[in-house]
Amino acid sequence: MSFELASITLLCFCVVLMCLPGYAVELSSNAHGFQIDSLDSFSAAGDKFELQRREMVEYQLRDRGLKDERVLAAMSKVPRHQFVNSSWRDLAYSDRPLPIGHNQTISQPYIVAYMTEAAEISSEAKVLEIGTGCGYQAAILGEIAKEVYSIEIIPKLAERARRTLSQLGYENIEVKTGDGYQGWAEHAPYDAIIVTAAPEHIPQSLIEQLAINGKMVIPVGTWYQDMIVLTKTEKRIIEEKTIPVRFVPMRRKSFP
Ligand code: SAH
Repeated sequence: MSFELASITLLCFCVVLMCLPGYAVELSSNAHGFQIDSLDSFSAAGDKFELQRREMVEYQLRDRGLKDERVLAAMSKVPRHQFVNSSWRDLAYSDRPLPIGHNQTISQPYIVAYMTEAAEISSEAKVLEIGTGCGYQAAILGEIAKEVYSIEIIPKLAERARRTLSQLGYENIEVKTGDGYQGWAEHAPYDAIIVTAAPEHIPQSLIEQLAINGKMVIPVGTWYQDMIVLTKTEKRIIEEKTIPVRFVPMRRKSFP
């Protein structure tokens, strides 16, 4: 075989290889030094969960009264299965919370969508999330809002969420490791604040960091918790108790 023929054959082989599903993921994974087996391939063929995702939106969300089309579109788009451990992937779209390690859970899809809808987020909004967990709720917010800031107290979860979100291409989401009870003053005020771990009382710092006319959606309580939708107006704070919920407690100090 001549040298030219060998070069052309090698070039064709490389082009075919790059078209294989999953190659883009491996490339970005390697560039960041990550495990390449943590995410499924993102090719259309690889997303075997599309139908499950659509059914989740119809039966778990729309049928239960959620109607913000931007939220429903985000829930139809974000690959929830990429945020859970591979052993839970087949249950990713089921109507339940799932473990994400470190004794924490990813909320049931309905609760994620419910909180997002209740926060009334515009496409220009700056949003703060407390309790990044696996990063799924942050991704939903990232689809709708302009900027998302999310705080996670468990460093390993924060690191994994950062990696998943970056592999999925989200550039408008920033994850910080720390205690979200104090909020994130640097980027305040926020048009919406979503809290996904339950404090006993609404943290004053979060109320302060909420913009006028902003909304905070937060589970409050210990054993019994209520979802509170808080609206901050020029003159007052309006708190509305909406549904009973069960979230992991909000921790109060940094995690080892
Ligand atoms: N929104 C998450 C679900 C989070 S579960 C998701 O989509 O996966 C609640 C998370 O809140 C846990 O990861 C827990 O570690 C975190 N958390 C608890 N107390 C916190 C605090 N004070 N500050 C920041 N994160 C906290």
